[in-house]
Amino acid sequence: MKYSELAGMIESLERTTKRLEMTSILTNFLKKVRKDELSEVILLLTGRVFPEYSSEVIGIANKLLIKAISRASGMNAAEIIKSWKKTGDLGLTTKKALSKKKQSTLRHEELTTSKVINNLQTLSRFAGKGTIDKKLGLISELLMQASPEEAKYVIRTILGTLRVGVGSGTIRDALAQAFNCDKKLIEKAYNLLTDYSIVAVICAKQGNKGLKNVSLSYGSPVKVMLYQKEKTIKNGFDRVGRPCVIQFKYDGLRLQVHKKGSKVMLFTRRLDNVTNMFPEVVEAVKKGIKVDCITDCEGVGYNPKLKSYKPFQEISKRIKRKYRIKELMNETPVVLYVFDILKCIDENYFNKPYKERIKVLKKIIKQVPWKIELVDQIITGDEKEAENFYKKALSKDQEGVMMKNLEMPYKPGSRIGYGIKVKPLMESLDLTITGAEWGQGRRANWLSSFILACKSNGKLLGIGKMGTGLSDKQFVEITKKLKPLITSEKGKTVKVKPLIIVEVGYEEIQKSPTYSSGYALRFPRLIRFRQDKDEPDSKERVEGIYKSQGKIKG
Ligand code: ATP
Repeated sequence: MKYSELAGMIESLERTTKRLEMTSILTNFLKKVRKDELSEVILLLTGRVFPEYSSEVIGIANKLLIKAISRASGMNAAEIIKSWKKTGDLGLTTKKALSKKKQSTLRHEELTTSKVINNLQTLSRFAGKGTIDKKLGLISELLMQASPEEAKYVIRTILGTLRVGVGSGTIRDALAQAFNCDKKLIEKAYNLLTDYSIVAVICAKQGNKGLKNVSLSYGSPVKVMLYQKEKTIKNGFDRVGRPCVIQFKYDGLRLQVHKKGSKVMLFTRRLDNVTNMFPEVVEAVKKGIKVDCITDCEGVGYNPKLKSYKPFQEISKRIKRKYRIKELMNETPVVLYVFDILKCIDENYFNKPYKERIKVLKKIIKQVPWKIELVDQIITGDEKEAENFYKKALSKDQEGVMMKNLEMPYKPGSRIGYGIKVKPLMESLDLTITGAEWGQGRRANWLSSFILACKSNGKLLGIGKMGTGLSDKQFVEITKKLKPLITSEKGKTVKVKPLIIVEVGYEEIQKSPTYSSGYALRFPRLIRFRQDKDEPDSKERVEGIYKSQGKIKG
């Protein structure tokens, strides 16, 4: 397919925010795509060149990209950077740069979707000597062949900023209409395969019959099941029923483990492939599980000398690591706690009751202490017993407990109500904003990612960065408030007079060398603006809450 056809369709999508209109544009377009090109087209229109769960990334440094744009357009790097700052979108800057040149040059061959996907996928596969030149060659080739409008989308795809607002639901609806398939079947298939580029081909080639036959397959991660929250054990019982299974809610990293023969693959909650970063987990799985299976687990970091658990932030350092993997592994090894199973040998288990899944786990897992273990769990309907178990989990430095109904299936991709978590609530903090960053793409004209600070002895001390919890309206409001307070600007980063106080919620306070207070908030989110306050909370209050967290746990 000509890339211009895809670019034209993306342009039409960008002109509307109405979901029904988007679905109709996409439906009409999908009907025209050849079946053998459907997969690459779906990837490209969602701004990707690899499936969601792939560990492969394009990974191009901005400097190299600017060089390629300069080579294709004739505009020098300084001018490109200047224009980028102004537009907030390197795609748009490229379009402008190329428009100036293209009037005088003729393109020989039209760009195709296959050419774009091939060149961009190849970018991630170079290593070693001459890599930079080869990458530069591939990007320049695309830009020289592209029209200015096409180049805009190519650049956005490379940067990962091509977001046309077609969510998962819109793609599902468009596939259903284009190929006359059942929406529910498409959704189910997507939750199992996590890849619309495969689901689309099944819809086009095999229809509902093919969708019904979609099964879990080793190596392709499944959307994880998530849980809801309750404040107390009693509420938990009311929600999930009695008796239920109660497990430690470990403070670690969710790992979906695929084992097939001697091959083991590990995926995070976001389905990133992290196999290479946790070699000890791969070894533990090989030792502890002899059959092929897909399990759901939590990897927890620990101190190998003291045999005590470490908080999640310690193992988060190991994610995305390419070097010093062994050193970090020796410092903070990970023990795998298995809590669910989705497939065993050739049999699907995700649709069976949890009590059966637990039974199978007990059968197939040979526990090796501090390597691979079943979750710590009890089955009870008794509140006192449950409360004691909750206290035990907190005393072992874990986050709380999970309470799960014993009869229900594993629902990939859903946040279910028949399984819940109970953990202590944290008090909110009032903090001042001392800096921010200009956003990207749609948010280019808004300040986002706000630096937060508390106070001690008249000095402001950083404690974290907040980028979530704000609606579009609040982004506009906060940008309007902060703009006149900007004192300096460097690149995309600004410093502001510390006059805006916000109430911030968070999951936990952690010790951190990153911020001057020595603490960092985990997952800070905006609760509200505190117009009534002109002083942030003190570092002493932060310390107090940090210590009481310890008390709750200890
Ligand atoms: P949180 O930030 O509280 O971990 P979440 O949004 O990542 O929440 P939820 O489904 O709400 O995910 O909470 C369950 C999370 O707790 C899982 O994603 C998993 O990483 C972790 N966890 C720890 N122990 C267990 C367990 N025994 N069963 C299920 N999940 C567990």
